[in-house]
Amino acid sequence: MVRIRWRYLIGDPETTVRFHDSMISLVGNTPLVRLNSVTQGIQATVLAKVEYFNPGGSVKDRIAVRMIEAAEQSGALKPGGTIVEPTSGNTGVGLAIVAQQKGYKCIFVCPDKVSTDKINVLRAYGAEVVVCPTAVDPEHPDSYYNVSDRLVRETPGAWKPDQYSNPNNPRSHYETTGPELWEQTEGKITHFVAGVGTGGTISGTGRYLKEASDGKVRIVGADPEGSVYSGGSGRPYLVEGVGEDFWPTAYDQDVTDEIVAVSDKDSFQMTRRLAKEEGLLVGGSCGMAVVAALKVAEGLGPDDVVVVLLPDSGRGYLSKIFNDEWMADYGFLEEAGPSARVSDVL
Ligand code: PMP
Repeated sequence: MVRIRWRYLIGDPETTVRFHDSMISLVGNTPLVRLNSVTQGIQATVLAKVEYFNPGGSVKDRIAVRMIEAAEQSGALKPGGTIVEPTSGNTGVGLAIVAQQKGYKCIFVCPDKVSTDKINVLRAYGAEVVVCPTAVDPEHPDSYYNVSDRLVRETPGAWKPDQYSNPNNPRSHYETTGPELWEQTEGKITHFVAGVGTGGTISGTGRYLKEASDGKVRIVGADPEGSVYSGGSGRPYLVEGVGEDFWPTAYDQDVTDEIVAVSDKDSFQMTRRLAKEEGLLVGGSCGMAVVAALKVAEGLGPDDVVVVLLPDSGRGYLSKIFNDEWMADYGFLEEAGPSARVSDVL
């Protein structure tokens, strides 16, 4: 578990000054907050683990710390080395902060559909961003995948974390998110709900909670309709950061008891309700996970404690989910459709 490293300065115990070593020691130990409004009619306690309190604003700071520390220990990342990863989102921000603090360079490869705001955030932390055309085949030398592979080959001291296959992605959650939830709920957690992207969050946290509870905590994955985890073929959906069109090795299918598929419309409507009713300005995958959590909580009693993990903040989605015109263009402002569908784990 990553411990908060407080520093105590100046000898006299009555006048000590408490501070953190650096932004890195602020990663993790995020709060739990009860959902009070969207849970009306539900007897169980539903608690949100609010990951935007991490310094980079998302759950991905946790994996950035662990993946970089492990690469330092194994020698894959050497002093002055360069981190190369095809990412435009939360993982990039986490890696950029940790890299900057530890003196590594970062090169991120992004498709050209990524907003300039997101690219500018990465550049603000000192990262280099290489933008690739979306309208070319994956085999094309300028494609997103080929460019990042070439940069790894050609950059001296380059290291590619690859969050989809890096075991330190789920391990970071096994070592931090899981123990935090067990301690925060004093072992009373009965259900854990999280969206599945790389699968790192649900696999690592879920495995810890299963072990700590002798298999009693139920682990529920939330997935956008159309993604492979809930039986789809990878058909496009608009919720960002979750769902896949392939099965990453970071995802451990054995940990998940149930997958709930949620539509874009239900996800985004719930995301807006979380801001308006709970004071939680969070991203679309958070709304999706809450729809799944409420579906699970519906049938539960007053002793049940459902924890739903909210990966990031809503600030990155102001021109989409929180923009009425964008929502109306997709028909997402109309009344909600049929509620979430529960499917067996594949
Ligand atoms: N939501 C958002 C916004 C994300 O960026 C991610 C990470 N891809 C997830 C959910 C899913 O987390 P994981 O990759 O650990 O499954």
